[in-house]
Amino acid sequence: MKPMKIAILPGDGIGPEVMNEALKILRVLQDQDVSFQTTINILPWNSEYYLENGRMMPENGLAILSDYDAILFGAIGDERVPDPITIWELIMPIRKKFKQYVNLRPVKNLNGIQTPLFNQDQHIDFVIIRENAEGEYSNSGGRLYEGTQDELAVQNTIITRKGTEKIAKYAFEYARKTAGRKVTSATKSNAVIHSMKLWDEVVAGVAKEYPDIQLEKNYIDALSAYFVQRPDTFDVVVASNLFGDILSDLGSALVGGLGLSPSANINPEKEYPSMFEPVHGSAPNIAGTGKANPIAQIWSTALMVEHLGREDLATLIVNSIEDVLSEGEVLTPDLGGNGSTFQLGDAISNKLSERMEKNSEEGL
Ligand code: NAD
Ligand code: MN
Repeated sequence: MKPMKIAILPGDGIGPEVMNEALKILRVLQDQDVSFQTTINILPWNSEYYLENGRMMPENGLAILSDYDAILFGAIGDERVPDPITIWELIMPIRKKFKQYVNLRPVKNLNGIQTPLFNQDQHIDFVIIRENAEGEYSNSGGRLYEGTQDELAVQNTIITRKGTEKIAKYAFEYARKTAGRKVTSATKSNAVIHSMKLWDEVVAGVAKEYPDIQLEKNYIDALSAYFVQRPDTFDVVVASNLFGDILSDLGSALVGGLGLSPSANINPEKEYPSMFEPVHGSAPNIAGTGKANPIAQIWSTALMVEHLGREDLATLIVNSIEDVLSEGEVLTPDLGGNGSTFQLGDAISNKLSERMEKNSEEGL
């Protein structure tokens, strides 16, 4: 098989530190499985690059990226460069140009992790599918009468039939593929919100094509409470851009926080590369100290491997993370240990290597 081409964008701060650990994982896969070969290119497009060149990426940056099968992103953000520049000149153009309209975030309580927000008997394992291209985060709107007592601001929400249909289909297909029984739609159509009435209609229409999967509709306020009260009852949660943004952070807090939260920006048609990145930023407060937890980056790598068609290898990566968490010997400070980024990454890649060796001996 042809090697998969992967663009690596380490970024700033702890980005390159956690990316190094993700690269160890890709190396193990490559060494142990002849049918999963990758060609990796590291692209140094970060704040340093901006300070030298006056731009976040080369003029033909997007054209360069379009040649890849996937993009693995670290994190971006540096106090010497305003945040709007790092975000709007690097991350956003990639998401938009490559039509990554699905933002997928797993919410899963990994073996070995406890948080005060859920009962240890609960088995939490669901995904949030967030619409990533339209919705509440639109350019439509503005401010009037600025600086006067009559000042007002208008923000328009754009919900389209096509956009909603595509995200709902993705959610139902995902449920089917992962043997999920239920799709939960986040809405607020009981209030005078026209956009969510259309959302509900379209989601219900798509649901008819999936009689094997139940559609549950919850108002966003109640759903936020259910996330805390009965997180073990969800399979796939589909939400608009704003609702999905908020639910994602709640979901991440439920099962362990930023150091453990991966995400995928997906172009389902595979017409363009998809991008995989931890939810966290460049964490300048701990950059250079070896304290960064590499699990979010490693798990994002697993999502990438899954997207590239190797769900089996993705599962092995997540299992290896859980092995190391359960043993609890080399945890980073955010997990209550005093291990380093490097030690935790090493432990996970060693486990992965052991698991793959064992599988190949058993002829699996
Ligand atoms: P942050 O996620 O970088 O950090 C928030 C807190 O979580 C900090 O205390 C940090 O130390 C901790 N933390 C984050 N990741 C961690 C990890 N892997 N292990 C252990 N602790 C971790 O968010 P912030 O401080 O608000 O932002 C810092 C910079 O990152 C800003 O410039 C911001 O714009 C940028 N940012 C970028 C992205 C992205 O690249 N997609 C996302 C969020 C923030
Ligand atoms: Mn957010």
